[in-house]
Formats: sequence, structure tokens, C-alpha cells
Amino acid sequence: MNSIDTLPGIEHAAVIPRGEHGISRKDISEAALRVIYGLQNAGFAAFLVGGCVRDLLLGLHPKDFDVATDAHPEDVRRIFRRSRIVGRRFKIVHVRFGREVIEVTTFRGHHEASNRFRDAPSREQSRELDSAHSHTGMTLIDNVYGDIDEDAGRRDFTANALYYSTDGFVVLDFHDGLRDLRQRRLRIIGDAGERYREDPVRMLRAIRFAAKLEFSMDSETESPIRELFHLLESASSPRLFDELLKLLCGGHAAETFRMLRDYGIDRALFSHGFVDGDEAMDPADRLVGLALRNSDDRIARGLGVTPGFLLAALLWPPLQRRLGRLEGGPHLMQLRECAEQVVLEQSQHTTIPRRISNVSKEIWELQIRLERKDRRSVNFCFEHQRFRAGYDFLLLRESSGEDCGGMGEWWTTFQDVDESQRTHMLEQLSARPKPRRRRRRRR
Ligand code: ATP
Ligand code: MG
Repeated sequence: MNSIDTLPGIEHAAVIPRGEHGISRKDISEAALRVIYGLQNAGFAAFLVGGCVRDLLLGLHPKDFDVATDAHPEDVRRIFRRSRIVGRRFKIVHVRFGREVIEVTTFRGHHEASNRFRDAPSREQSRELDSAHSHTGMTLIDNVYGDIDEDAGRRDFTANALYYSTDGFVVLDFHDGLRDLRQRRLRIIGDAGERYREDPVRMLRAIRFAAKLEFSMDSETESPIRELFHLLESASSPRLFDELLKLLCGGHAAETFRMLRDYGIDRALFSHGFVDGDEAMDPADRLVGLALRNSDDRIARGLGVTPGFLLAALLWPPLQRRLGRLEGGPHLMQLRECAEQVVLEQSQHTTIPRRISNVSKEIWELQIRLERKDRRSVNFCFEHQRFRAGYDFLLLRESSGEDCGGMGEWWTTFQDVDESQRTHMLEQLSARPKPRRRRRRRR
């Protein structure tokens, strides 16, 4: 096995010995270790890198493990049978062990901002070129490989640029990341404006990490954000959606959202602005904050959150505004139409996969039915696969101050009581839905 001492670029690293960092081998996923050893046995260098090293140093549980190596994606692909190369513009390899996927990236190197494009490069161009930038400086293709020192310099924040080596169990630090970590400071590597222009999503990442890790941003990292957040509009919308999910489902959604609003970034991410706290006079606006806090609580208790539920909450205010413009109470067809519009508007900012927006739509539709006090609707709702989510949403609406005819409590009781009491409750309801009043068509 080759020692890391001879690895090009390593001479620029501060080496933190085993006794001075708290990482122990047993905290590291077996799958990640197998990837590292597999690469080393094939003659390559391999390190844990990024969020997992950062989180282990902070005493947190990493949510995934990333590996950096000098092996090229095609080499990695050859070494591990259950692996595949993903991404064209930033190639990485996913290596699968059971349910775990280890992301393996090849050390990235510097590239001159030479190949400039006005529009996104075509499939053919992406295949042929290993680097490309847009006219605003955004990196479009990033497949130039380099040494570990260059790789560290291409990462986003100093705390994310720490490497852990199983050779001597040392941490390698190229950018004073450990000092920043200890001072709980998020610091971007290099010139902040340039790094945000290269990849505007880094601004969202800055906010996500600051909120999640309770780090403060250093002033150089923070100050360009207000000026440059509009560049997020040019980021790819599927990527923005991925990032949005991470912002929402990371357990710190309420704080993340407060920061997004503070920087004005909600305007780049959403079709509508948010109001919260004392400014929120409207129950629909208040519901958003409640949903975010609720989901943070669930995550803290080890429960899952459904992206479709959160999306239903986030898009509730614009949906209510649309429905409010209609005459009379909303009917299912009208709700469907408005829901379609609201989702469409949002998908101009971030992609929304259908499987997720369909859940939101089901939750919204259930709201109309959960409020109806007749046997058919009750049976329909109770057997619906989204009943639980729909009911939770109804409770949120009530907590936000909306009048839902006391149906939240009714449903709570209905679920608590035994079968015979349930039958009794059903018998007290009318058998049929109330005939809908037809609105007279205006001439
Ligand atoms: P977490 O997995 O907890 O969300 P993370 O830091 O591991 O956080 P990943 O998206 O898994 O985030 O990325 C792994 C590492 O890759 C990061 O720690 C960082 O070093 C690097 N990285 C990811 N995205 C970028 C980016 N947009 N620009 C520069 N480096 C990045
Ligand atoms: Mg990670």
C-alpha cells in the first residue's frame, strides 16, 4: 500500500495527528472504509472528505460519507462492480453497498476560464470538453483533475475541505478549516464573489450550513450574498429543487427559512414571497412557519418528513390567494385547477418532481373532504392512503387560526375511540353529502 507522504500536493497540508482530533474508525461507515481500502489496494490514494469529516469533528452523525481520490471516474468504475458514473458536467461515481451509496469524487484541479458559453453546452460539447464557463463566470463543466491541494481549494467552505486518512488516522487541513470549525465560523475558500458566481448554489449551501451547524458566516462569506442571490435564477432548476429539499428536510428548516428571507433569497427560490412572525396576519402565512417548526421537531424525534407535505405547506398561501378570488367555497374541480397553476408557477423556479407535487395535491384535496361532515366523505378520507398527512395538515390549519368547523378535534376523537364508538360517530353524521348549491351562472 502506498503511503500518503509521497502524494503530490500533500506538502501543503497541516497534518493533525490522531490524538488531536476526535475521529475514531468505529464512527466511519463500513461501506466508506471498503471503498477507501478498495481504492488503496488498486494503488490509488483515497480519503474521507467533506461533510462527514466536518460532522465527525463536531461530534455529529454524518448523513452520508464522501470519498475523494486520485483515481479517475473510469478507474473507480472498474474497481467496484456495483458502481456507476453519474453527472456529465461534474462526473462522480456512486458506489453501492447494500442500501448505502458512497459518493466518490476525483480530485478536481484549477482551470482557466477559457471555454466560455452563452447558453448551456450541448451534450456533445460536454462530452468533449473538460471545462467550461458561462459569460457570468458560472462553471458549466468541471472535469479537470488535479492534486489533493488543488482539490481542497476547489471545495466551498474551509470546514468542508478537511480530509481524513486511514493511513495514520490523520486529518489533513489545507485551509485552516479546523480553526474555523473550532470557532464555529463558516468561511468560503477564495474570493467569495467569484466562488458564488462560479456556482450560485453555494449561497444556499452557506445558509444551510450556518443554520444547521449554528455557525456564523465570516463577513467576506456573507456580504456578497445580498448582492448576488439573483444569480440563483440561472442555476439549474433540478439542482435548486435538490437543494430546497436539503434546506427543508435537514432538521433546521425554520432557522434556514428565517435566513433565506433575511437575505431575500426566498424571492429567487419561490414564486411568491413569505411573511412570518408578527407580520403574518393571514392564517395561510402563519401555517408555513408552523409546518417548518413541526417538521424540525419531527426530525429531532427521529421521525421522517414527507417532502410533499412541506411543499403543500409552502405553497398553501399562494393556493389560498387563488382560491380566495373565487366566488363561494372551493369545489374539488376548482381546487384542482388552482393547484395545477400554483405548482406550475413554482416549477418555473425549482423543478418539482411529479411524485412530490402529486402528494401535495392529494393533501390539498383531502382538506375539502376532511371538512365535510357526511359518512361518505369520512369513509373516503379514513381509507385514503394520505389520510394521516391530510389530517396533520388540517391540524396545522387550525393551529394557524383558520376556522375548519372543529373538524380537527372531531377527527382526533374519531381515531382515538374504539370501533363501536366510531360506528356511533358515523351514525350521527348525515348519510349523504349535502347537495352542493349551484352557483347561478352570470349572464
Ligand atoms: P451534507 O452532506 O451534510 O449536506 P456536505 O458538506 O457533505 O454536507 P455534499 O453536498 O455531500 O455536502 O458535498 C460533499 C463535499 O463536496 C462538500 O463538503 C464540499 O467539500 C464539496 N462540495 C459540494 N458541493 C460543492 C460546491 N457547490 N462547491 C464546492 N464544493 C462543493
Ligand atoms: Mg455529504
